[in-house]
Formats: sequence, C-alpha cells, structure tokens
Amino acid sequence: MDENVLREISASWRGARYPVVLTGAGISTESGVPDFRSSKGLWRQTPEELSSITMLERKPELFYPFYQDRIRNILAAGPNAGHFGLSRLMEHGYLRVLITQNIDGYHQLAGAPEVLELHGTLRKVSCMRCHAAFDSRQMLPEAEDETLTPGVGPECQCPECGGRLRPDIVLFGEGLPERAWEKAMRAARRADLFVVVGSSLTVGPANLLPEWAADAGARLLIINREATPLDRLARWVVRESAGAVISALVDSILAEPV
Ligand SMILES: [Zn+2]
Repeated sequence: MDENVLREISASWRGARYPVVLTGAGISTESGVPDFRSSKGLWRQTPEELSSITMLERKPELFYPFYQDRIRNILAAGPNAGHFGLSRLMEHGYLRVLITQNIDGYHQLAGAPEVLELHGTLRKVSCMRCHAAFDSRQMLPEAEDETLTPGVGPECQCPECGGRLRPDIVLFGEGLPERAWEKAMRAARRADLFVVVGSSLTVGPANLLPEWAADAGARLLIINREATPLDRLARWVVRESAGAVISALVDSILAEPV
C-alpha cells in the first residue's frame, strides 16, 4: 500500500469516534483453510444447493458429509495476521463493532471479545428437536471414513434426545440471526468510519451495511483483492491482501499516542 494512503487512512482511523469493521471470506482464505472437497468435483451439487435448508430436510445423506468436511477444514486452520490485527485494534479502543459474514470463529480465537456473526457459526451445532447445543466436533464421525460414502451416521443425532443435529449457521432459505443483524444495522448507521475487509459485497443483506453507513456520512474503506459493487462509494479502495494491509494499518494506528 502507498505510504501516503497508509498515513491518511491511519490518521482518519485514529480520529474516528465510531469505527466499524465488516469482514468476509477474504480475511480467512489467508489462513489456508483447505478448499471444500466439493470444488474437486466430489459433490454433484453446488455449495449453494448443499447449504440450503431444503437439502438438510430432504437430502441429509448429502448435507451432513458436506458440513462434516467443512467443520474439519475450519478446525484444520486458525486465525491469521488480519484477525489478530483487528483484535488488537478492539483491545485499544480503535474498533467499536466487529461484524463478520464468516462462520469459522477465527475472530474469537484471535481474542475479539464480541463479534456479530451475521451468518452464524460452524463452531457449534444444536439439536433441531430439544435445542441442546454442542461443539461442532460432536457432529463428526469417530474415525474419518476415507471412502467418503455419503450417509447419516449416529454422530448426526442429538446425544440427549436422538433428534437431528444441525450446524448453527444461516442456511440458504433462512433469515439472519435477529439480534446480531439489529446490532449490525445500528452500528452501520452510527459509524463514522466503516471498513470492509475481504468481502466481495455480493451477499445480501450484509452488503447493505456499508452502503447505509456511507449514506449516513461514514467514510468507507474497502480492503479486498477484487473490485466490489460499492467501490464507487468508498473514500479508499485497497486491492491487496487483507492480512498485510491490516498489519500495516494496525502498526501505524498504534504507533502514535492517543
Ligand atoms: Zn435433542
């Protein structure tokens, strides 16, 4: 990132009263989370089809192996410089609200005290009948079945009541968690600096937040490798790796006394 731009952004960030950050998949790809096996052609359905409530209800033999795979992938990696950098900003009072579209829980693992998870979390599963909650490891088979025969094993059942377990994420066809969404909307309207990190801003309704923030007068910073539909509203657009940009910004913001 250009030195002058870096200085301008960090000065603006230091002076902001209510900085808000929204993160998307781009911040976590740098953690090296392995690709879904689906992308290697093992699954005939697209991830969008497999991530639907219809698939959970009608084709659990396809739904469960897909999510067991995603849980394993998330457990195999962890937070990176981008996640840790944002946690440091929070810790020093330079980040008021952290909103994420991600379901990997890496912000919390990096020490963020509060995260608004708009799409839920794949760190937990719960029973569809009695609502008992479990760590998502509960939904993994004892030994990984290398033959990958799709099926619904006993691990997909609630140990309390035998009901069916489901990941605590928002599936296609479901609404966003109300509390998190309301807080995120309020934060967007209150923000004077709104920062997007690693989101293509193509998934709604989360992509409305930066637009609302900009409409309400917030300066908008977009850090994403590819162009987004909101680039035209942004004061700054940085098309570089999230981890490197956040690290440079955090160093610069924290270098100056408050
Ligand atoms: Zn149950």
